[in-house]
Amino acid sequence: MKTELTGMNPAELTDWCKDQGLPGFRGKQIFQWIHRGVDFDGMSNLPASLRENLKEEAIAQPVSIRTTRVSALDGTVKFLFALLDGNCVEGVLMRYHHGCTLCISTQVGCRMGCAFCASTLEGCVRNLTAGEMLGEILCANRFLVESGEPDTKVHNVVLMGSGEPLDNYDETVRFLRLLREPEGVNLSLRGVSLSTCGLVDRMNRFAEEGLPVTLSVSLHAPNDGIRKKLMPVANRWPIDQVLAASRNYVEKTGRRVIFEYALVDGVNADPAQAVELASRLRHLQCHVNLIPLNDVPERGLKGVSEAQVKRFLDTLTEHRISATRRREMGDDIEGACGQLRRREINRTSETEDHDD
Ligand code: SAH
Repeated sequence: MKTELTGMNPAELTDWCKDQGLPGFRGKQIFQWIHRGVDFDGMSNLPASLRENLKEEAIAQPVSIRTTRVSALDGTVKFLFALLDGNCVEGVLMRYHHGCTLCISTQVGCRMGCAFCASTLEGCVRNLTAGEMLGEILCANRFLVESGEPDTKVHNVVLMGSGEPLDNYDETVRFLRLLREPEGVNLSLRGVSLSTCGLVDRMNRFAEEGLPVTLSVSLHAPNDGIRKKLMPVANRWPIDQVLAASRNYVEKTGRRVIFEYALVDGVNADPAQAVELASRLRHLQCHVNLIPLNDVPERGLKGVSEAQVKRFLDTLTEHRISATRRREMGDDIEGACGQLRRREINRTSETEDHDD
């Protein structure tokens, strides 16, 4: 099996080169090329014979772009990324005044089973490696160059695509450390958000890593009764423990926590539930992000009207909870979680059905 070099840091790549009988400085050269999105063929300061050998032994770019859809509304780009084993995951590039944000996936599918989420419908196929997570960013940067925007790069990263990042803990943390390598993509972790459904033990462990990442917690309910209807993880970790772990994260990192709350008609969107939520969050340094639900017809869950969003938001604000409604981007290209991959899976299985 070939060795994936993409997830290695410069010291590890140097050691790997030495193990191959190469001079150590090749490690740094290869690292720089990888982070620029270049495959072995393009590593022009390496002898041609070495490049050929490396191709036999190793992988530099484990991710490629299978399809892209560009929003005519706001320039949002939805990627379907192909992995070397034939799996695919989604990513979304959003454009803001202050730069580009890429939403990346951390697993192929997800095993958390949230009722409203399209990514989890077929369970978790496998974890992504750190190199594959980085590969999603490298693909998006290459796409920007190829679309005539060589000066635009992914600036912020959100781990909010398919998968539960804290369920793939080691590779996710390795990926985050790679991001800030000065010779690599060199991103500030202050521009990175990690979203979790609330794996309390892992949240507490993550608080100790010394990584200044913004933690987003998918809360989606003011109490355990409602949360259990939407999120099986609530049977394992009660909301009080999720909030205690969130408070611990604030104390350890000095960064406020973001609570994600998707409004589901008839389930969690009543103003009384906003009051209950506000009372639970009162002494926490936090911000609530209200998300209008993207309907998942397979699960029979519906979003709410603009008026209902506003009422919920106003109630939180009246109770002095900082809250905003999440801006929707790429509405015309199925920007939301799991939708594009599902369509691809459905399309492929339709074709397969046809062939039978
Ligand atoms: N597993 C992580 C990250 C992936 S989901 C987590 O649970 O946070 C990223 C965000 O999108 C989460 O807040 C998730 O709850 C939300 N989400 C998933 N499906 C959605 C839908 N149909 N409509 C609105 N938000 C959704």
